[in-house]
Amino acid sequence: MDLATLWYLTTGTAVLAAIMTFWERKGHGQRAGELGLWAAAFGAFTLGCVLSMVRKDLPGVSGFAASNLAMMLGYLLVFQGVLLLDGRRLHPALILGLLVAIGSTWFAAGAAAAEFLWNHASSLPIAIVSGLTALSLLRSQTVRALRSRPIAVAVFACHALFYVARAFVVPVLASIHGEDVLALVAEITMYEAVLFTVAMPMSLLALVREEDRANLLITARTDFLTGLNNRQGFFELAPRRLSHAETSASHSLLAFDLDHFKAINDRYGHDVGDRILKLFADIAREIAGPQAMSARLGGEEFAILLPGTKGADAHAIGEHIAQRFADAAARPDGLGIPATVSIGLAEASGGQSDLPTLLAAADRALYRAKTLGRNRIEIARAA
Ligand code: GH3
Ligand code: MG
Ligand code: MG
Repeated sequence: MDLATLWYLTTGTAVLAAIMTFWERKGHGQRAGELGLWAAAFGAFTLGCVLSMVRKDLPGVSGFAASNLAMMLGYLLVFQGVLLLDGRRLHPALILGLLVAIGSTWFAAGAAAAEFLWNHASSLPIAIVSGLTALSLLRSQTVRALRSRPIAVAVFACHALFYVARAFVVPVLASIHGEDVLALVAEITMYEAVLFTVAMPMSLLALVREEDRANLLITARTDFLTGLNNRQGFFELAPRRLSHAETSASHSLLAFDLDHFKAINDRYGHDVGDRILKLFADIAREIAGPQAMSARLGGEEFAILLPGTKGADAHAIGEHIAQRFADAAARPDGLGIPATVSIGLAEASGGQSDLPTLLAAADRALYRAKTLGRNRIEIARAA
């Protein structure tokens, strides 16, 4: 394949990347800033490619310099977008300063040095910015848990390494083996450029899409009113929590049902009912602690899974929650409502930790607490 074809290909993929990234902005409001920067970056790469193809037709070093500057702007905008994922950014004055410095170097070096700058020296800033982009992705808290992060890091790291080689290894090879090396390297460079302009936008878009999907999954598993896990979240996540816990340990599950809640709604209104639900959720979350998994299973029914907690400790936690809830609801400076909760407790010991069985046992104990007069905690007979 000749160089011109590769340049056309790179230009084409850069245009497509710019259009697709710009289009993608609409679907990812949260990351519109990043996607906008990347779309602008791919636009700059496109311009850089076009200028590169006509660089020798332009006067002096102006074609070389303009192409190189457009490309550098592209790399810096990509980097800026990656930094923005974590709410960081380069000061625009720094970007401008770097571009002015690079532009000045081109004109100061003049036509005699143009080929050397083009083939070798201009690779160094590209290598540095790509390397910093890889490093930022590696350190980013935002993309930390995303499966596509290693791909994105690898894309930028490989590109950085390739350009380090262009800056430092290729001049040595050229001095030993002559100019033929440069022609070969030019071809390899363009081949790599085609791959990079495909892989880079794909990996960046993958990050944003994956993050979006992860957020949707969190929303799907979260109860909107209380912020606790909802039923789906509880049944998806709690078994995992149990399977990660020590198999020989005891696990406990508390099932809660607010007492006469329909009457509270009827008497004080649905809004007050909602506030009672939130109050209970906040208290339960706080007292159960970070190791526990709390959920609103539906209506005025809640559950707390306490991995590695014995029945006696879970009993104390349940009583504590019930007491704090009743006190908080009744406070005259708060809602001033007499509200109570009934609780069923089930314990699984010796590795018998099957969530549905545990929940069913806790539910039966809860039913007993209701029939025995409410506002009490009952222990499942055999979990
Ligand atoms: P028991 O002591 O036997 O549990 O009686 P209860 O009234 O609490 O039980 P019941 O199942 O008869 O009523 C539950 C009520 O919870 C009925 C429903 O209107 C109310 N509820 C369910 N979801 C919500 C909600 O999101 N907000 C409010 N305010 N009320 C809700
Ligand atoms: Mg109920
Ligand atoms: Mg109830």
